[in-house]
Amino acid sequence: MHFDYLVIGGGSGGLASARRAARHGAKVGLIEAGRLGGTCVNVGCVPKKVMWNAASVAEALHDAHDYGFEAKTGPFNWKKVKDARDAYVKRLNDIYRRNLEVDCVTSIEGYAKFVGPKTVEVNGERYSGDHVLIAVGGRPKWPSIPGAELGMSSDGFFELEQLPEKVGVVGAGYIAVELAGIFRTLGADVTLFIRHEHFLRSFDVMVRETLMETMLDDGVNVETGREIVKVERREDGKLKVTESRGNAVEPFDALVWAIGRVPNTDQLGLDTSAVTMDEQGNIPVDDFQNTNVDGIYAVGDVTGKHQLTPVAIAAGRRLADRVFGDQSDAKLDYENIPTVVFSHPPIGTVGLTEDEAHERWGTDGVNCYTTRFTNMYHALTTRKTPTAMKLVTVGAHDRVVGVHVIGIGADEMMQGFAVAVKMGATKADFDRTVAIHPTAAEELVTLR
Ligand code: FAD
Ligand code: NDP
Repeated sequence: MHFDYLVIGGGSGGLASARRAARHGAKVGLIEAGRLGGTCVNVGCVPKKVMWNAASVAEALHDAHDYGFEAKTGPFNWKKVKDARDAYVKRLNDIYRRNLEVDCVTSIEGYAKFVGPKTVEVNGERYSGDHVLIAVGGRPKWPSIPGAELGMSSDGFFELEQLPEKVGVVGAGYIAVELAGIFRTLGADVTLFIRHEHFLRSFDVMVRETLMETMLDDGVNVETGREIVKVERREDGKLKVTESRGNAVEPFDALVWAIGRVPNTDQLGLDTSAVTMDEQGNIPVDDFQNTNVDGIYAVGDVTGKHQLTPVAIAAGRRLADRVFGDQSDAKLDYENIPTVVFSHPPIGTVGLTEDEAHERWGTDGVNCYTTRFTNMYHALTTRKTPTAMKLVTVGAHDRVVGVHVIGIGADEMMQGFAVAVKMGATKADFDRTVAIHPTAAEELVTLR
């Protein structure tokens, strides 16, 4: 079967691009090997946010007594939340399927493998396209050490039927920090193993150091400078991990690898299509999502940059607008992409960190405005979390090139500030904006 647009991968990027192209009138086929919605819907943002919400409820319950509620609650029922979460994800899968039908996108179930430049085979059938999009995303990376299979990836986290009592999390990125926070807040004993002295090393030093401090206060055991070299199962069924200095840490009921992701390109038969990959297997693209082969494009995680759902969606839509919607200049601007780490408390950030601004603009051209305080929510609570904020500005007009916040509400706060940064707002624009009181966000427009 031949299409105007053949999309491989029904995740965030593929679905968005396929539907947009169909709305422009293209005949579109979309191939998905697993569940529609991809990583985000099935084993990423969506079920993760449900668990983060559950953890946030646990925090509120902890504080309820301080706010005058005398009622006692029972233990947390992980299985109940998992079942409700799975049902929610299933509803989303069905909605995605209906949306494809509404937009007249032909849905093809199965694993696609290139058998020609713009032709793939799925379950023995051949499909081709004038234009082909590769939006196959990635999967969790596993370490190559003895006993690695005794641990689980983030995919395994979503399979857990109960809260493990004692859990090890290995890694230093978004997933490690988010899952460690969820486990801890819901009551597990958590050890986070990181290779260096810090986690979230690409984030502004202020937010990552504040998070480290908070996690330590919350009782997360953060083992720094540790690489795990071996995992073994003990006779009692629990896990023992050995780190590079030879020390054994035990016992764990569960161990989660959160050490990054690898692109789903190894089984795709890309050599047949002549599309080139980099050393990690990512597909390099130009500013317009073009691969090295004319008429074959890539969006989302498989391109190896800004691995976020809204980025994959936006890149996919712009691409469809360009190829099928007569918008020859349409492309995603990868500058100033806001992002949130759903830690406890969350981090929201957009633009350059202080270090990045120094590298780009030199030390003299950069100003930083910072504040740190305890959110008014905690005025009545025994449990406290810090809020810290930083504006990074450059040049004589103090243009705001970075906003970094950790604290209650940072997740919801950042979208609006990202608009301001994208528009090129200056510190004076921030200062001219009347504060909303009493909020934490108001501090960002009153910084001295
Ligand atoms: P995917 O969503 O991975 O979709 C690719 C699809 O292609 C998959 O469905 C796969 O089955 C299919 N596929 C692969 N190979 C083939 C083939 N050969 N034939 C047919 N189909 C194939 N991002 C955020 O913005 N916010 C968050 O809070 C967030 N949380 C996350 C939490 C976790 C635990 C994880 C793992 C990720 C999270 N992300 C988050 C990242 C986000 O999920 C990804 O950036 C996003 O899903 C990428 O979309 P994509 O379309 O590139 O790939
Ligand atoms: P990340 O790339 O964010 O972090 C993985 C980190 O683990 C590495 O940066 C590295 O940090 C550390 N690491 C790598 N190898 C090892 C090893 N062998 N042993 C110990 N530590 C190791 O990957 P994630 O898997 O956390 O997430 C993948 C992507 O998904 C993210 O980059 C993000 O784009 C997206 N995501 C977004 C979320 C959100 O928007 N809230 C949530 C979750 C994921 P170091 O070098 O410092 O050791």
